[in-house]
Amino acid sequence: MSGKVYLTGAGPGDVELLTLKAARVIEEADVIIYDRLANPKILEMAKDGCRFVYVGKEDGRHTLPQEEINETIYQEALKSGIVCRLKGGDPFVFGRGGEEGAYLKERGVAFEIIPGITSAISVPAYAGIPVTHRGVAVSFRVVTGHEAKKSASQIPWENFKTDDTIIFLMGLHNLGNIAKKLIEIGKSPDFPVAVISKGTTPQQRVVVGKLNDIEEKAKNLPTPALIVVGKVVELREQLAWFGSDETV
Ligand code: SAH
Repeated sequence: MSGKVYLTGAGPGDVELLTLKAARVIEEADVIIYDRLANPKILEMAKDGCRFVYVGKEDGRHTLPQEEINETIYQEALKSGIVCRLKGGDPFVFGRGGEEGAYLKERGVAFEIIPGITSAISVPAYAGIPVTHRGVAVSFRVVTGHEAKKSASQIPWENFKTDDTIIFLMGLHNLGNIAKKLIEIGKSPDFPVAVISKGTTPQQRVVVGKLNDIEEKAKNLPTPALIVVGKVVELREQLAWFGSDETV
């Protein structure tokens, strides 16, 4: 009998944004497989004797190929017990939880998904930016910023002409390209943008700017960071509430 795998959302950073279910599984787990987490304190909740397997980036080394991570989870499951595969935010929002679940299912290993609070919504919230707002934005999109530089990018830039909120994850290093693309499709160069670094943690920093100056303003921010494009960014003036972050 193999063990059971919990593909577990760890939330965006603030430990109190863990779900009760995630907290229970972290406490009961025999092994926790994790990568870069916004808050490593979560691991302190594990029981004595819990083993930790790190599958994230080492200095100068890339993340393990996903296939190897899938196999690691599977091998841990074969040892039986409770396997917690912990992921930042929500496992199905750019978390590759789907690939891990499919790999386990093919091999007959039982798993559960524990959704987490995604950074896409909660990090803007901690910066005082609602992703929708009556009369300002009727929808929001969550987009990978990782691909912005590729010539064969699958990002449907032409769809971004509306004033709906766009949240780019994994986009800090492509911020200049993203801003350029949005101006190219017709957005005003002074359209509002915010970059939020280490959101929901005591190190949270928020930089507010415009499409034409945000790259320069945000250039020294540490990761993880996300980008919010939209008029909702202006609501921060009324709604900022968390920490001592600055508005530039
Ligand atoms: N599954 C995760 C996202 C994984 S992709 C989720 O649902 O939140 C990783 C990206 O998430 C980072 O590049 C960054 O853009 C964003 N991110 C995660 N945690 C963050 C944080 N505390 N502050 C700012 N951005 C964060």
